[in-house]
Amino acid sequence: MKHVFFTPGPAQIYPTIPGHIQTALDADILSLSHRSPEFDTLFHETTEALMTLLSIPKDYRIYFLSSATECMERIIQNSVEKKSFHLVNGAFSERFAEMAKELGRKTGEYRVEMGNGFDFDQVRIPKDAELVCVTHNETSTGVLTNLDAVTNYEFQVTSCLRALDVVSSIPGVAIDFSAFDFVFWSVQKGFGLPAGLGVLVVSPKGFGKAVWLGKRTSIGSYHSIPSLENYRRKLQTPETPNVLGIYLLGKVAKDMIGAGLSRIVEDTHAKAKMLYDFFEKDDRFDLFVQETENRSPTVVVVRPHAGKSPIMKILQKNGLIVGEGYGPMKDTHMRIANFPAVTQEDVARLIQVLNDTSNN
Ligand SMILES: *Cc1c(COP(=O)(O)O)cnc(C)c1O
Repeated sequence: MKHVFFTPGPAQIYPTIPGHIQTALDADILSLSHRSPEFDTLFHETTEALMTLLSIPKDYRIYFLSSATECMERIIQNSVEKKSFHLVNGAFSERFAEMAKELGRKTGEYRVEMGNGFDFDQVRIPKDAELVCVTHNETSTGVLTNLDAVTNYEFQVTSCLRALDVVSSIPGVAIDFSAFDFVFWSVQKGFGLPAGLGVLVVSPKGFGKAVWLGKRTSIGSYHSIPSLENYRRKLQTPETPNVLGIYLLGKVAKDMIGAGLSRIVEDTHAKAKMLYDFFEKDDRFDLFVQETENRSPTVVVVRPHAGKSPIMKILQKNGLIVGEGYGPMKDTHMRIANFPAVTQEDVARLIQVLNDTSNN
């Protein structure tokens, strides 16, 4: 039986992926030199499709890295000389802050309990912070941060750079790239691709900081933003990249342009509503995120009172794979990813199977 993956990464693959993989094989993409004109065309098509799909400002630059975690490291190395500031409400925002400390930077942090959203009236960004790091969607807890609140006055008055992790929100939730200097994700979540590719989008201001910092100190040897830029101008990457991943991302981005991003966003909200309505009513489950406005449309986190194992087994027998809880919540929570690759019918079937388990 073919399974449907409601897992928050790697996730259900986008439905057009098998066809694109076959085309890639037929067109010899897997043996393509990353220094050939054919690769330059492929690189160009993928970046253009992403710019169009996501309305990325024309003067922003797109780089291909190996993962979202690598993007975090590159951003800190290339834009923070001494101090970054982090909004922390779960494992991924925590990882970003830890990364800065491991790289010898000082951090300021505003923390709230897991499962909570931020009270932006309480956020005070220190004057010496060079970069604010925000995780749009905490995949570990199912909390979505309201980006209007992020770009409020407190953030407006500080001149520091802004980084946004959109790994598990994009493309199901709309993002205004122009409000940020570094936006990044990996492709095995909302885009429904095989893992092994990270995308980093950089503003002119973010790029300028990397060039400035690179003249004062080491900003990386494998990948620095200026070296990525030197190759990007030639429509290439410094190393041999994940050519198949870049190819597939361009194809899926084009498919999504065809489907319409606003329809994908609406569909995500419609499926999220089905899930939240179901779990609200069924008293065998608690929703982990209490405040309705903090609940993520793309990752729904629930605690089944009777434990997650029996329910996950029944779902699996029916071909439906959901995620376990993250870290310390591994055994108590289930995480249900609602990415574009799962359909309303898939969600309806998940709800149906969960309903049926209450009747026997
Ligand atoms: C999965 C995830 C990451 C890490 O992605 P990798 O591709 O494994 O590096 C980072 N941030 C968030 C919010 C995630 O969900």
